Amino acid sequence: MLIKGIAASSGISIGKVFKVKKEKIVTSNEKVENIQQEISKLEVALDISEKEIMIIRDKTARKIDRKHGAIFDAHIQILRDPELLNNTIGIIKNRKLNAGRALQITVDKFVKIFEEMDSEYMRERASDILDVSNRVLGHLLNQNINDPGLMEKEGIIVAQDLTPTDTASLDKEYVKGFATDKGGRTGHSGIMARTLEIPAVVGTKTIMENSSEGDDIIIDGEEGIVIINPNEEQLKEYRKKEKIYKDNKKRLKKFKWRETKTKDGKKIELAGNIGCPEDLSGVLNNGGESIGLYRTEFLYIGKKYCPSEKEQLQAYKEVLKKMDGKSVIIRTLDVGGDKSIEYMNTSKEMNPFLGNRAIRLCLERHDIFKEQIRALLKASSYGNLKIMFPMIATIEELRDAKKMIEICKEELTDEGIEINENMEIGMMIEVPSAALLADKFAKEVDFFSIGTNDLIQYTFAADRMNEKVSYLYQPFNPALLKLIKMVVDASHSHGKWTGICGEMAGNEKIIPILVGLGLDELSMSSSSILRIREIIGKIEYEKAKEIAKAALNMNSNKEVEKLLEKNFSY
Ligand code: PEP
Ligand code: MG
Repeated sequence: MLIKGIAASSGISIGKVFKVKKEKIVTSNEKVENIQQEISKLEVALDISEKEIMIIRDKTARKIDRKHGAIFDAHIQILRDPELLNNTIGIIKNRKLNAGRALQITVDKFVKIFEEMDSEYMRERASDILDVSNRVLGHLLNQNINDPGLMEKEGIIVAQDLTPTDTASLDKEYVKGFATDKGGRTGHSGIMARTLEIPAVVGTKTIMENSSEGDDIIIDGEEGIVIINPNEEQLKEYRKKEKIYKDNKKRLKKFKWRETKTKDGKKIELAGNIGCPEDLSGVLNNGGESIGLYRTEFLYIGKKYCPSEKEQLQAYKEVLKKMDGKSVIIRTLDVGGDKSIEYMNTSKEMNPFLGNRAIRLCLERHDIFKEQIRALLKASSYGNLKIMFPMIATIEELRDAKKMIEICKEELTDEGIEINENMEIGMMIEVPSAALLADKFAKEVDFFSIGTNDLIQYTFAADRMNEKVSYLYQPFNPALLKLIKMVVDASHSHGKWTGICGEMAGNEKIIPILVGLGLDELSMSSSSILRIREIIGKIEYEKAKEIAKAALNMNSNKEVEKLLEKNFSY
């Protein structure tokens, strides 16, 4: 069966389905005769769950750090809590209920108590109890609760969607690709797949319904196709495609040490996007000249608490040191939207992407924002740091954010801490209002970086996570190109520079227009860097300028796409 979706991360992968299900487990009121047998079942499920949690704990400790691994020790404590066990056994014995139902009754009671407590810390324990009990229930009722963090052999993940926590726990050693029902190209899971350099197709709508655990599967991250149980012919075809893809990757290696410039000598900086210090090697191996976007939210996601100043400093310092004087743009916290954080206690919103997100949330939660700015300033003396604010919509937001830098600078100077005084401060252009007033903003920042994932979403009023409106992801549309031109021109007229760090920067087809519009820097997933360098080397700047000018006068995404196809082939 062939299913079409959205190509989210390039490459071909052939393997077996590893299904991740996240349904709520429902228990029945069925009575039991053999009490002892029911208690034994419960004990077995507890043992298996404990082993699983231990595996995840050790992996997390290896991948992130011991402290995060320790969160799972708390899960084991819950699992072995005598009250939880005795209460459940009591219900099995007294009410002759099956072990699953008995556990659920106990858990519901405990969760209610915790949820009603005043302390935020205690309320959080309620979700830990639910997490743990769901795992035990899954084993009791023989319901598969495959967890991506538990993969121990190679496979291709099939899921309805992957949460940022799921993607943070993906292990490249085992995950050879993934396909999801939901999501768009610029959602978090697609971005993570590109960073990890694993093929992915998202927004398939029906992959969960049409696949079973252990099925053979092909992921074509180039065309956005998934094939379940392929026939011999398809397998042959895709093995060939896989080889071509790999050979091409090898061929591109020769561009690793080359300068990025057009045929007629116009230089453009090619940078990499990262989500954590571990992603750096991908950027460096692929010849990235700098870091154009460090998404710091992954330091905050999937944890039970806010990362401390010390913990953040360590991560920022590591990146700056490894980049050895090359530019590193660190973006301040951008959560909300599709990335929610439990411990921030944000309220449910009707339109999360239009809600309390990114800089808006930081300006409300000064405590969290301050901790990050302090960590960044402390890190600034270890390399070439540039701080960037996300989602700025008004000049007041920018000024308030900059004020926080001033407050922290003063504090740290008083504490005798060294700070790099020449650090550049920039902002992302992701909201049309900021693009339209770029000439005003340009006076108050050192650089712009256009976040086209969001700028497209807000310009076309189309949720980037909703596959039904993914046709409105229109990077060639002149409406968007006009906004980009305004931003680039505004920055240049004030002696500042502009980059793009949205996924569009790594789109092979659009590159001539980005060059022609005068972008100074392009920052992308590491897997795209070498190919984009090769393409830029084939373009003439003068011609690119002409084409960009013509594109601005066209009517539609399609027309511009055709214009490019006619004029550039590489
Ligand atoms: C963007 O919006 O283009 C961007 C780079 O930010 P994110 O994808 O993290 O929202
Ligand atoms: Mg964004």
